[in-house]
Amino acid sequence: MEKILIIEDEESILMALEDNLRLEGYEVSSAKDGPRGFYLANEQAQDLIILDIMLPKMDGFEVCKKLRQAGIATPILMLTAKSREADKVLGLELGADDYMTKPFSPRELLARVRALLRRAKPQQPDMDLCRFGDVEIDFKKYEAKKGGTPIELSALEFSLLHCLIRNKDRAVSRDALLDAVWGEQVYVDPRTVDKHISQLRKKIEDDPQAPKFILGVRGVGYKFGG
Ligand code: CA
Repeated sequence: MEKILIIEDEESILMALEDNLRLEGYEVSSAKDGPRGFYLANEQAQDLIILDIMLPKMDGFEVCKKLRQAGIATPILMLTAKSREADKVLGLELGADDYMTKPFSPRELLARVRALLRRAKPQQPDMDLCRFGDVEIDFKKYEAKKGGTPIELSALEFSLLHCLIRNKDRAVSRDALLDAVWGEQVYVDPRTVDKHISQLRKKIEDDPQAPKFILGVRGVGYKFGG
């Protein structure tokens, strides 16, 4: 069952959304303010987040920004009462995937939800083969080449690279990388991530000291910028 988190403080809209989505077979959870929504989005992997802009304590823009900074790439559908172009642009710049103006019809909402979930899915197959610079990675076969010459990457390095490329141009925190690559149940020192990133850079970057693909993001972690 696909999981949808709704972050919305208006009771009537929240209830209508919950009912409609549950009827369609989605597993729905909800939050009525920004911090609680951010917490729930972090706590459990969601397939989609419906996020209102005007929220108590932390607005939707802030929630969106923080989620992306934390490396959470879940599709976000933003809601607002105003059809302000500036809101739309800001939301999309902060990493939201789509935008809907209230009031909306349940049919329109469901269509957008389905489209976003569908769009989020095929990312995996697209990721089988990946090229950047003179590097070629086949994630399915676990094969990598640089300048046409095979290079040896460990399973862990493939996984680390996959996670970064999946979140291309978005900062992924060390914790998010640990969860995605090592698993949430395992305790690993966040510095371990740095060690493996450094090894990965030596293998795929022309100049590991001045990386072009695996970029450091101060105070956060890393991002792929190929
Ligand atoms: Ca609101």
